[in-house]
Amino acid sequence: MNRRLFFRVSFSGLFSFLTHKIWATEAEKVDIMTVRGFISKQKMGITLSHEHILVDFIGADKIDMTTYNYDKIYETALPFLQALKAAGCQTLIECTPNYLGRSPLLFKRLSEATGLHILTNTGYYGAVDHKYLPAHVRTETPKQLANRWLKEWNEGIDGTGIKPSFMKISVGDAPISDLQRKLVAAAALTHLQSGLTICSHTGSGGAGMEELEIIEKQGVHPSAFVWVHAQNEQKRELHFEAARKGAWISFDGLYPAESKLSEQTTKQYLDFLMGMKREKLLHKTLLSQDSGWYNIGTANGGNYLPYDLIFKDFVPKLYDNSFTKKEVKMLLQENPYQAFRIKIKTN
Ligand SMILES: [Zn+2]
Repeated sequence: MNRRLFFRVSFSGLFSFLTHKIWATEAEKVDIMTVRGFISKQKMGITLSHEHILVDFIGADKIDMTTYNYDKIYETALPFLQALKAAGCQTLIECTPNYLGRSPLLFKRLSEATGLHILTNTGYYGAVDHKYLPAHVRTETPKQLANRWLKEWNEGIDGTGIKPSFMKISVGDAPISDLQRKLVAAAALTHLQSGLTICSHTGSGGAGMEELEIIEKQGVHPSAFVWVHAQNEQKRELHFEAARKGAWISFDGLYPAESKLSEQTTKQYLDFLMGMKREKLLHKTLLSQDSGWYNIGTANGGNYLPYDLIFKDFVPKLYDNSFTKKEVKMLLQENPYQAFRIKIKTN
């Protein structure tokens, strides 16, 4: 490179660096990681915060991802993701953890084909009697586990260069087991080094409170924590308590039955959301379906359910129940961004 060109290039680099630092508004910041790299809040747009593209329930000791027919999974998932994009959704957060079928290269291929942004994760799933935990969780310390997850954050997952966007862990009902406590502690350590949000599949409100206590003790602010499957806890007061501390309350099981949402679930979710709104906690609430997916080990991947029904069937009901456009945008756009942006949140 000649000298003059060098100066021109480095000057424009310096200029864009300075303008980015000084004048970047929240919408222009690139602090959401996807399987295709960082994007801005604006690009993230309307987001479904808890869905799946594939899941393999065989267990950590038997899983063999080399046997998957990725072309077939791709062909099966593609039309569902295209329909979601056509419904106005820009981002899908894929919550299948490691040892349950997490497939970053497949997600990247689907993201490129559809234009939908896809987020994947690091972390381990501790619920269901530790069936999905690799053996090393028993012998390693939280710090050693955190180092494994941080390696994925720093270098990408399994040599793909694709980085996780958040952590997905899981615990059962209270009192949570020692191994599950270890996962939560590892997640807190990972957060402090990376700013990755901790999403935890949580068996009950009591378990959620235990998790919050562990992360807060390590200096992590509750706003770095998403209580996944909060709908499993019927005591609304526990949702309110966790949200008032700053945690994200994720009502994410609005899954369709066949080709529509069930009336009972729809009613239950409207109640949850109206309760959060009444308590002025809508800004701490996430909404998703837990829909999809290609079920490995079943014939042709089983019954893949659509992702777009939330927009067709549920959002109109929110408007019917006095939710404003701004509140719907909060649930499906503002809150996912605030919950999943890469940011270290300390006490
Ligand atoms: Zn799920």
